[in-house]
Amino acid sequence: MVQSIAQNERRTSVDDVFDNLHEQIVTLKLKPGDRISEAEIAAQFGVSRQPVRDAFSRLANLDLLLIRPQRATEVRRFSLRQIEKARFIRAAIEKEVLRRAAAHCDSAGAAQLSDALAQQKAAVAAKDVERFGKLDYAFHEILCDIAHVDYAFDVILEEKAKVDRLCMLGIEKEQRMPELIEDHKAIADAIISHDAEAAIAAGQKHLSRLDGTIARITATNANYFESASS
Ligand SMILES: [Zn+2]
Repeated sequence: MVQSIAQNERRTSVDDVFDNLHEQIVTLKLKPGDRISEAEIAAQFGVSRQPVRDAFSRLANLDLLLIRPQRATEVRRFSLRQIEKARFIRAAIEKEVLRRAAAHCDSAGAAQLSDALAQQKAAVAAKDVERFGKLDYAFHEILCDIAHVDYAFDVILEEKAKVDRLCMLGIEKEQRMPELIEDHKAIADAIISHDAEAAIAAGQKHLSRLDGTIARITATNANYFESASS
């Protein structure tokens, strides 16, 4: 009994540290290449080093931290190869999601899409980047629901998370939210009118927006990317 309570407490502090650092990394409060120390984080949270170590290893598994023996732990820099891989998988899955969503969309699905777009417009009007990020996830989840492939969203989520920091940087720097909404609207319109080809084309355009972001960020923040030698 006593032991299980201790275990619960420990699990909670790992989750707390994990959630907090995860949030800071994906919102770029902690930047690629920033160093963080186990001792400092432990002191900051008032916990021992073990839960911090556990949280660090979870973040490393998500490719968000780079842990190396005898060297400082770093917020992981972007890897172009990883980004390509994530995009390839997402593009292939999303294409099939859009094809099926166009086939299955009913009036309830159409209403969900319109409502999602209205919320995104409100977030843009409020210049709320974080909220827009969340609504972007929700939009892609709705597409999976309409397509009757809710499990596809798990894969999209995993792949999207890998390029999220980059998207966040792109959005902040370029204020490109209106462009993304335009894409979402084109996707929604095509699905509501059961036009699979148009939905797939709009979906591909949406994913290709990242090309410009990558080009700009490699030019302005080369230090955010892993160099070929490292
Ligand atoms: Zn989107």
